[in-house]
Amino acid sequence: MAQLKPGVVTGDDYKTLVSTAKAGGYALPAVNVTGTNTLNAVLEAAAQAKSDVIIQLSNGGAQFYAGQGMADGFKAKVLGAVSAAQHAHLLAEQYGICVVLHTDHANKKLIPWVEAMLTEGEMYYEKHGKPLFSSHMLDLSEETIEFNLNECARILERMSKMGMSLEIELGVTGGEEDGVGSDLDESADNSKLYTQPEDVLQAYDKLTPIGHFSVAASFGNVHGVYKPGNVKLRPEILKKSQDMVQKTHNTEKNPLNLVFHGGSGSDKGQITEAVSYGVFKMNIDTDTQFAFSQPIGKFVGEHPKAFEYQIDPEDGTPYKKLYDPRKYLRAAEVGIVTRLQEAFDDLGSKGKSVAG
Ligand SMILES: [Zn+2]
Repeated sequence: MAQLKPGVVTGDDYKTLVSTAKAGGYALPAVNVTGTNTLNAVLEAAAQAKSDVIIQLSNGGAQFYAGQGMADGFKAKVLGAVSAAQHAHLLAEQYGICVVLHTDHANKKLIPWVEAMLTEGEMYYEKHGKPLFSSHMLDLSEETIEFNLNECARILERMSKMGMSLEIELGVTGGEEDGVGSDLDESADNSKLYTQPEDVLQAYDKLTPIGHFSVAASFGNVHGVYKPGNVKLRPEILKKSQDMVQKTHNTEKNPLNLVFHGGSGSDKGQITEAVSYGVFKMNIDTDTQFAFSQPIGKFVGEHPKAFEYQIDPEDGTPYKKLYDPRKYLRAAEVGIVTRLQEAFDDLGSKGKSVAG
């Protein structure tokens, strides 16, 4: 079995990690983080599960990481991502597992964000011989397929020089992820929610000669968690794309690296089915947001006075030990660690870390 050095993996090691997951029939959760609390919790969860993991930032998450109060919002989106990546490069190795660093949806308006992160990545590469991030995502699924693939080719060209990988999106993931996309319209014609295999083949033909890439294909998946019955997942759509590329180019089984967006709230059987069709990454955000917030709500509910008074107005009890932010933030971190054990189980990655 492949063995890699623990810590952030990029370049050929990243490719090895992806192919090992696909060959082993498992996938890794990609968890959106917004600060050191959530990032450290993901590292802890992965270490506990002995699984590798993908840490990613949306543009809003990156901005929050730098500080919502930073005057230049665009700069905050760039430097917040850089800061999170540097944090992970410094600490991930200590957790004894492999970590992929990635950024989430960037639509047409956010192409400059990706390009600015690449400029930072190139400076880092010059110094350290490896890029800051393992991969970035470009989500131009709302544009024409021509524009989408031309831009992806242009950006991948630049990324390939550092051994970076690009995630593209074909077809539209329903719902909204941090300002990209729109809220799910349950009455709309949802045919766009299913990726066309012809588009995937076109992407494969264009991008394969340039570098390593993955495809967020839509098979009815949506961002967010909705009432049961409102979302109809059709994982067999993924198989159709794999089969078409395999047949056209006479490749091995599952030639495409597929990404499952909107993993929160998904049916476990359909997760397993999607993974069998070459999904190596499943995004999870909504469920880990709830897992982080729920214990804080519980803690405040159990100790309401500590959040109103420093000292009890009746009996003089000091509440410092309860309003110390570490108390409820630790409970929140543990919430993420616990929820992610379920994700590692669902995706079959528990105990499969390739870190040696
Ligand atoms: Zn997404």
